[in-house]
Amino acid sequence: WFVSVEGIDGAGKSTHVSAIADALRASGQRVCVTREPGGTPLGEKLRALLLQDEMEATTELLLAFAARRQHLAQVIVPNLASGASVVCDRFTDATYAYQGAGRGVDWALIATLEQAVQSGWTLPPAPGRAGSAAAPLLQPDCTLWFDVPAQVAAERLRDARQPDRFEGQARAFFERVAQGYVRRAGEAPQRIVRIDADRPQSQVAEQVRAVLRARGIV
Ligand code: C5P
Repeated sequence: WFVSVEGIDGAGKSTHVSAIADALRASGQRVCVTREPGGTPLGEKLRALLLQDEMEATTELLLAFAARRQHLAQVIVPNLASGASVVCDRFTDATYAYQGAGRGVDWALIATLEQAVQSGWTLPPAPGRAGSAAAPLLQPDCTLWFDVPAQVAAERLRDARQPDRFEGQARAFFERVAQGYVRRAGEAPQRIVRIDADRPQSQVAEQVRAVLRARGIV
């Protein structure tokens, strides 16, 4: 299985990534846990640039997709091809939300790059995976979208960690990013499952487990 985890900064998603991986392992699967931007030596260098350097929005988009291409080639596709599951902390929906909705990059340009970067990969058929060997577009089988109001997320972040340049952004930016996730969820309602993350962690974890079970992932 290819599972991605999404949400605005402060949604709490990263806390649940290892629990998702544990649940997959407990059901007998080999699991690769990875993240974007990053996930490869090159990708982590690109991540550092993305997080530290101010740059023009389309530059940011191109670096994100460069990192993703390398991530697919080096980590995601080899793992899926060997029968392992991949749990990825952020994937292309984050690009739509942050660079598209957040920074105003043309949605259609993101879709074009998505097609270019995520197509042409050969994978064996997996249970539940739409398409198979020649799937036109490599997408997660399931995306868990941790949804919280931007204000709640900002409060959680305030003391939690050192802000990177995105976390220093105005509330309005995160409101736009949050709306970007809403739009993506509307575009891919089968794949993207909303998790109500504005609740105590134990309840969030229970909803996550329920979704994974309902989808036959664990
Ligand atoms: O998920 P994580 O907290 O590791 O993301 C690191 C940072 O990268 C976040 O602050 C997020 O705002 C930013 N980011 C971004 N565009 C993406 C993905 C992440 O600006 N496509």
